[in-house]
Amino acid sequence: MNKRTSQLPGFYKVTVSERRRLVAEATGVDALDIGRALERGGLDASTADKFVENVLGTYGLPYGVTLNVRVNDVDRVVPMVVEEPSVVAAASNAAKMVRASGGFRVEVDPPLMIGQVQITHVADAPRAAEAIVAAKAEILALADRAVPGLCARGGGARDVEVRVLGEPSDAMIAVHIVVDCRDAMGANLINTVAEAVADRLAQLASGRVGLRILSNLCDKRCVRVRCMVQADALATDDMDGQAVIDGIVNASRFAELDPYRAATHNKGIMNGVDAVVIATGNDWRAVEAGAHAYAARSGRYRPLSVWRREGDALAGFLEMPMALGTVGGTLRVHPSARLSLQIACIESASDLAGVAAAVGLGSNLAAVRALATDGIQRGHMALHARSVALAAGAEASEVEQVAAMIVEARDITLESARRALAAIRVRTIKRPSEQAHVPDDRGSAPALNH
Ligand code: NAD
Repeated sequence: MNKRTSQLPGFYKVTVSERRRLVAEATGVDALDIGRALERGGLDASTADKFVENVLGTYGLPYGVTLNVRVNDVDRVVPMVVEEPSVVAAASNAAKMVRASGGFRVEVDPPLMIGQVQITHVADAPRAAEAIVAAKAEILALADRAVPGLCARGGGARDVEVRVLGEPSDAMIAVHIVVDCRDAMGANLINTVAEAVADRLAQLASGRVGLRILSNLCDKRCVRVRCMVQADALATDDMDGQAVIDGIVNASRFAELDPYRAATHNKGIMNGVDAVVIATGNDWRAVEAGAHAYAARSGRYRPLSVWRREGDALAGFLEMPMALGTVGGTLRVHPSARLSLQIACIESASDLAGVAAAVGLGSNLAAVRALATDGIQRGHMALHARSVALAAGAEASEVEQVAAMIVEARDITLESARRALAAIRVRTIKRPSEQAHVPDDRGSAPALNH
């Protein structure tokens, strides 16, 4: 067996094809398969035409991998699809700090999803609820008959819960059918079950069938991630590790006390989670909906993760719902999604949920550490500068140099990038022997200052 590692020093410095070779070596996936699955985003227009309606083409996004991730003592190279600069680098850096203290510890609930059946026009809601609870075995059997394939794989209906909503004069009933979806995200399976049992539920409740659909607040399918980071690993040039821990704990308290901050704190988590969810072909709207509904479950919007001091170290804890699949939907049809599961060596939907959440907690750590130390803009804008350089019309060979110039001038704007580009091109014409892509380490700020 190959050496499975998520530590690939110098990875960011080598070419794209060299990176593919290194990931192939580290994960056992064939480098040619990696190239083929990522060619043109992995999806051609005619395949895309089978996915959705009115297709004109496909839309590309960068596909990177986060390194250094270790989850429950296993190394993972984790694919991330994201357009925002610095997300992949930040997740890799955070994972490196965490692995020095043993990596992420993850616990994943069984893959239980909730199907909701709404019953309206209920004259006596408490009596209706009793009748449904009394018929639980019958309802579960009816549900299982609707999804024989799932039951054959060890999944199926597990519970029936009844909730009475609204005022007695105008009550409605929400019946929850709890289904073990095994390795599927489960939306279609759940909807099939909800439709199969709805008429019988309405009959038992002497009411009328309303909606029949899964709930994206899948709070029985949560994942919990813990990590520790030693103070030394958190230190920066200007701050010692203990001061950084204090800053991060302070940032956590801010999010716990203020929904305005909590929203942005959680966005930092979703930077990592969504990128993994998209790379593996999963439904990120479903994960987002579940995450934010869970964050607000107490009646106030709260952070999904908290950070505390434990002795001389920092401890992080994240809990959130995570409905992901490794089968079903369109994910098996998308070559890049299949590739992602292979690269990260994903064995089941629960395994994937744990890895995605670990990357989420790592992304959160990177963001709160940056906020508690240099501020987010220093690192972020340096990477953002490349996008600005591209927007200003820089060719691939010019991007790094233009980005370096506008960062040094502390003026990361389109105008500044255009001036830098013009200056480079003038110099290249004057000195044709000089390679345009060689970074100009003599400093180029003067070109930007007029
Ligand atoms: P699906 O409809 O493809 O069902 C999964 C299939 O895989 C079933 O036929 C099942 O029997 C089979 N299967 C094979 N091996 C399995 C295993 N090991 N474990 C479990 N099932 C196995 O997919 P789904 O997961 O039911 O639905 C997911 C899709 O539904 C996503 O594309 C999602 O975007 C979409 N969707 C989402 C919502 C929502 O979130 N509100 C609503 C509707 C649809």
